Amino acid sequence: MKIETRAVHAGRHIDPATGAVTMPIHLSTTFERSPAGEYPLGFSYSREDNPNRRALEECLASLESVKAALCFSSGLAVATALVQGLEPGDHIIAPDDVYWGLRKVIGEVFGKWGLETTYADMTDIDDFHAALRPNTRLVWVETPSNPLMKVTDLTAIAALSRQAGANILTVCDGTFATPILQHPLECGIDMVIHSTTKYISGHSDVVGGALITRHDNYLFERARKSQRYGGSVPSPFDCWLTLRGVDTLPYRVRAHSENAQRVAQYLKAHAAVETVHYPGLPDHPGHKTAARQMSAFGGMLSFQVHGDRETALGVAARCRLFIRATSLGGAHSLIEHRASVEGPQTRTPQNLLRVSVGLEHPDDLIADLEQALQ
Ligand code: PLP
Repeated sequence: MKIETRAVHAGRHIDPATGAVTMPIHLSTTFERSPAGEYPLGFSYSREDNPNRRALEECLASLESVKAALCFSSGLAVATALVQGLEPGDHIIAPDDVYWGLRKVIGEVFGKWGLETTYADMTDIDDFHAALRPNTRLVWVETPSNPLMKVTDLTAIAALSRQAGANILTVCDGTFATPILQHPLECGIDMVIHSTTKYISGHSDVVGGALITRHDNYLFERARKSQRYGGSVPSPFDCWLTLRGVDTLPYRVRAHSENAQRVAQYLKAHAAVETVHYPGLPDHPGHKTAARQMSAFGGMLSFQVHGDRETALGVAARCRLFIRATSLGGAHSLIEHRASVEGPQTRTPQNLLRVSVGLEHPDDLIADLEQALQ
């Protein structure tokens, strides 16, 4: 079935006890055994598995057209579970402008683990190729990237990684693209992660993450153990809320994309704006690749104003409709001075503002930017 239909139906069923059309929230932490000591309905204890998490996992696997997904308590809990599955001495390649949280996981949580990491420009195949080593085990891709909106060629990275060694697994953080606009697994990437906190739940009211795989592999199995036995699980209510968001995901992300395209074009023509980073603009360096591997360009963009940090902060301060807040993917438009969130180590330009374009009317969003940029 088409993705819109799967978004509404996959993983769901009519409640056999009541006929409820919307799945109940099963808060029970434990499930009854039969007199013979078995678990006839397949659930024993809620950390290990529960009906709401299973429904969400089935639905997200279906959106990526595969069988297996694992849901976690946050997007970074997925990253933690994957990195934890590596052995000391293993080598990771990650994008040089990767979401800063991954750098923190690798550097601050796993600093003592003895991992080697190369941050490469994944949009430059030669740079990526030069980063490969005999002990490379995990290739991390993020496309479009946060916050510079760099686009990585998923098919090329998957093919090169396969050629470089059977021991290498590739994972794509598809949070900005969602499972609607981009299908990394169809490009040959082994696993995809999403922060479900963003577009998938879609209403800025629940934190979560998902790991979805194209095939059985040891890192996925270790992540499953980290989820079930390590316990970084989302609650049944979190899963219920997230799944409710998925109902409308295909239509929301198209509207986000249309609005972002309008806002990007407006910003591009504005004299106070130095650069706009949005893959939907024909002169974006990743436009052709994005057009090939995405069905629309998504709701995220960033732009650099002529001026410095204070100029950028001033624009954000004058916004009335855009809310000054971090995160993305909700109905409200958000604007963020990214460098000050990322702190002194940041590689993000000081004159850059990141925007999550919401579901308001684009005319109102543009009017707000117009007065803020004056
Ligand atoms: N990946 C990307 C691209 C993100 O933007 C974020 C959060 O902003 C994450 C992962 C982490 O997700 P979470 O905040 O759910 O842990």
